[in-house]
Amino acid sequence: MAVEIESPLTIALSKGRIFKDTLPLLKHAGIEPLDDPETSRKLILDTTHPSVKFVLIRATDVPTYVQWGAADIGVAGKDVLMEHGGEGLYEPLDLKIAKCRMMVAGHADADIGARRLRIATKYVNTARAFFAARGQQVEVIKLYGSMELAPLVGLSEVIVDLVESGNTLKANGLVPLEHMHDISSRLVVNKASWKMKHATVHALVDALRDAVGRH
Ligand code: ATP
Ligand code: MG
Repeated sequence: MAVEIESPLTIALSKGRIFKDTLPLLKHAGIEPLDDPETSRKLILDTTHPSVKFVLIRATDVPTYVQWGAADIGVAGKDVLMEHGGEGLYEPLDLKIAKCRMMVAGHADADIGARRLRIATKYVNTARAFFAARGQQVEVIKLYGSMELAPLVGLSEVIVDLVESGNTLKANGLVPLEHMHDISSRLVVNKASWKMKHATVHALVDALRDAVGRH
């Protein structure tokens, strides 16, 4: 189901699991990279489609590139999109890849309902919104990684993080305390590209939707 590309397209992807899991879907649409990002140091990859290129960026930067139109399309985790806010973006398709859950986690005896509960996370906006929605006052501490450490050294009572198997939590003596959101990766489209490159973008969305249904 090779897509008819009438307009040049830039697609923003992050290395690692999103790239790996998106590749078969794009292949179904007739688009394959000419270089392997795991071995190449290139940040812009040409594809089998002369007018389609991939730009490789950090997962958290994908919504920014697409919002500003530096990429027409991108693939980003729902976690990243919630934290970004989604301004300037359409989110037409759940690709159902890189699935995990956003959870509150901590020591098994942590009092998650405590007043001014201290939460360490890289998802500060999402965490604030979640607790504000039930009227609980919390203190949110921004971290950039290794959230599991925070409750172990008393930086915070709990963390908000992504959980897949729970093995990292378990290895650090922590447990999931509350489920917040189911996470998967979404296709995002710049709002101007959605209008200006209508035929191409829609053909690609259709092809990817078909691919998701088959995988
Ligand atoms: P980096 O690892 O470079 O700091 P990152 O952690 O944002 O960046 P990835 O680990 O590749 O990058 O995660 C990218 C996306 O994959 C996340 O935004 C999330 O949607 C999803 N993801 C993260 N961890 C998991 C997991 N354990 N299982 C499934 N999906 C995950
Ligand atoms: Mg990571």
